[in-house]
Amino acid sequence: MNDPVPGRAPLIDVVVPIYNEAENVRPLVERLATVFQSLGCRWEVVFAMDPSPDATGDRIAQLIDEGYPVRLVRFSRRIGKPLSLLAGLDHCRGDAAVIIDADLQDPPELIGAMVSMWREGYQVVIAQRTSRKGESFFYLKSAELFYWLLEKISEAKVPRNTGDFRLLDARVVKEVRRFRERHGFLRGITALAGFPTALIPFDRDPRRTGRTQIPFLGAVNIALDGIIPFSRVPLRLMFLLGLAYVVLAKVCGIGWLVFRLATGFTPNWLLELLCLLLVGFAGLIVACIGILGEYVVRTYEESRDRPLYIVEKVLEGRGCKGPG
Ligand code: UDP
Ligand code: MG
Repeated sequence: MNDPVPGRAPLIDVVVPIYNEAENVRPLVERLATVFQSLGCRWEVVFAMDPSPDATGDRIAQLIDEGYPVRLVRFSRRIGKPLSLLAGLDHCRGDAAVIIDADLQDPPELIGAMVSMWREGYQVVIAQRTSRKGESFFYLKSAELFYWLLEKISEAKVPRNTGDFRLLDARVVKEVRRFRERHGFLRGITALAGFPTALIPFDRDPRRTGRTQIPFLGAVNIALDGIIPFSRVPLRLMFLLGLAYVVLAKVCGIGWLVFRLATGFTPNWLLELLCLLLVGFAGLIVACIGILGEYVVRTYEESRDRPLYIVEKVLEGRGCKGPG
């Protein structure tokens, strides 16, 4: 049983990374209010907001004025979803935190099941997508490849088809906060933190309104951040590829020598073969430097030790809502 203080309703922080979602702010908070009405928990929403050119900030302020349990943490510039999540967790003060997207692709109604599992003793409860509506075939196939790669080579055991929609016990939030890594790949960090984990299957809805705020290249960036900092395999692969190439070159060299000894040293087709191998070798080196670069750039970013984010202002009303 995870209810921390007997007789006092636990407080759940709902962390929402948000950018340009004016039309989704109220529907999200209203659905959350309905969900929490029946849960016997106190709750508050922490909007981790990238400064949005649309009316997102105004809509959130309006909800605060109306007395909804909402806090707005506004960053000084757009830092993107992964870091917004970490910043949102930094601002949690409850007994557990739920992370959910603003566009209602993650159904708030699932929070009920998450809280039940948490009360049973699971400290991490992750929603696992059984279907994803409204995504293109190409996007889905890329996601499949990403999860396959994660499963094969990541040190962090990230369950397949899981996004950031999850509940984390306060203890896990505390530990996750100690990972000050600027890629902000929460799925990997949570997996590294460990703790008893449960999965809850769900069908992912299409976005309620508007278009995705994360373009395909942005998603590729997040995917690379999900793999490179959590796996040595690409580096090892470079070494193995190099080794395999050396062996191949040796075999070809011996073959060439045997051939020349047997037929004399006139025809030059083998020379062409060697040229081909050389071209292949150059490609291999460039690819390996590319992989190396992915690690070097991340080492460089971490070594600069810049602040992960800058909060411009925090806006809050009367705090959490609910029984107790
Ligand atoms: N988001 C954000 N900053 C950004 C881009 C997106 O905070 O720079 C938020 C967005 O408002 C949403 C969540 O991150 O709540 C997921 O974004 P989106 O729905 O666009 O991504 P997708 O579901 O297509 O992966
Ligand atoms: Mg979305």
